[in-house]
Amino acid sequence: MEPLIVWSGIEAAWPPAFWRWAGLQRKRTKCSRLDAPSCLIIGDAAHSVTPVFGQGANSALESCLVLDGVLAAADGDPAAVPAAFTAARLEDAHALQEVDRLAYSFFRRRGIFDTDFLALLAHVLLGTILSKVVPFLYGAKPALLQLGAGLPYSKILKAVRRDATAAAVGLAAVGVWLGTRIAARLATGGAA
Ligand SMILES: Cc1cc2nc3c(=O)[nH]c(=O)nc-3n(C[C@H](O)[C@H](O)[C@H](O)COP(=O)(O)OP(=O)(O)OC[C@H]3O[C@@H](n4cnc5c(N)ncnc54)[C@H](O)[C@@H]3O)c2cc1C
Repeated sequence: MEPLIVWSGIEAAWPPAFWRWAGLQRKRTKCSRLDAPSCLIIGDAAHSVTPVFGQGANSALESCLVLDGVLAAADGDPAAVPAAFTAARLEDAHALQEVDRLAYSFFRRRGIFDTDFLALLAHVLLGTILSKVVPFLYGAKPALLQLGAGLPYSKILKAVRRDATAAAVGLAAVGVWLGTRIAARLATGGAA
């Protein structure tokens, strides 16, 4: 069995002073697996996050639902449950951590120079536009705005990364197009 590794803590600058005073600077927890011999790790013990998106209790309840499914699938064989629970939930638990880490950019206040902030912004802006223009292709709204509504965290993270990449490629393409147009204008002007 792979060893269980637990990462704890968040960037020191994140919480406002009263949260640091309340001990919340250790609020984020990530585990390399969600089971150990004869035990499961669930809720805050497995994947506590900062309060920024209000997902702590929500994700704990989601983990209970996943465990319910794993118990039903185990069909009376408890030995199969721990590893099956890790297999069913770890990707989403890690994705939740990553979404929470991206949200830290709200508090770094680096504005448009913060790539984490830009990724979230690009997803929400592009997703809002595409969900209005081509809802049959994109869906009803950006995945990040569906946090807590049952969409798996891994799908939300994939949607954020996909839209951020699409926005970056689109902006680069527009930049290249504008650059060639300006260069062509300058060349024409120079010739005239
Ligand atoms: C300021 C703040 C705001 C939050 N806002 C939100 C929000 O808006 N939305 C949201 O979804 N979540 C929010 N959360 C997070 C949410 O409260 C937690 O994620 C959730 O309570 C985790 O549930 P849990 O059962 O895993 O852990 P807990 O609720 O911490 O339950 C663990 C229990 O185990 C008990 N215990 C500990 N050690 C032992 C022991 N040795 N023996 C026996 N019992 C023990 C504790 O007393 C406790 O009752 C917030 C949290 C904070 C601190």
